[in-house]
Amino acid sequence: MIVVIAIDALEFDLVKEFNYENLKQEFYGKTNISEFSQPRTMVLWSSFMTGENKEKEIVAKDGKKVNWDYKISLEKTFFSKFNKPKIIDLPGFNYDKAVHDKSRNLLKNYFETESSEEKKKILQEYNKDAMYHHKTVREEFLTAIENDYDFILGYFSAIDVIGHLNFGNKLLMKMLYKEMDEITAIVRKKTDKIFVLSDHGMIAIGNFGDHSTHGFWSTNFKELNNPKITDFAKIISGLKK
Ligand SMILES: [Zn+2]
Repeated sequence: MIVVIAIDALEFDLVKEFNYENLKQEFYGKTNISEFSQPRTMVLWSSFMTGENKEKEIVAKDGKKVNWDYKISLEKTFFSKFNKPKIIDLPGFNYDKAVHDKSRNLLKNYFETESSEEKKKILQEYNKDAMYHHKTVREEFLTAIENDYDFILGYFSAIDVIGHLNFGNKLLMKMLYKEMDEITAIVRKKTDKIFVLSDHGMIAIGNFGDHSTHGFWSTNFKELNNPKITDFAKIISGLKK
């Protein structure tokens, strides 16, 4: 069983600073996303699963609008190389769009309102939704690793979503990294082929967070030497027995 723990916006520098051993596994480093004009979630995960740069298909010509409805069929991804793959909540494939739309809307409202009272209310709802969704995904993922899939990918968005409004809150970010470290520890008892992978990292803009170009990867079995995010389709499907 090959497992990918896909963690949106897991920042290389923070994994190092917090020194979470399970996230770091035996080999770790930065993913190379320099072929993309900007670190965009939908573009990066879609490129990851196909092994091809999908930026031109997903971002409008003006370079602004991202197609959040973009969806790739199983046959066009490397997941189809496996006999029994299980993919949980991945953008560009099968994510719960209503949940992700709602958090994007709350984020927009947060920055549009001038009332600090209103901001506080939005922030609470925003963080609460992200944690609720995280727990749903965690449950589905931890159930999946008890089953006989040959490939499992669980996509975890809380570090990105919560990071956008709280990245300056180190304690909160540390708690979220610890949560992902604990999930990885559980998986490490189950299989010897694990990838922890993020699409991009995050940098602080005051209290808030913006995407950085530091993606993170780790494995428990192999040095990958500065891989591009589009290299993983080959690397992972090449492991199939
Ligand atoms: Zn992302």
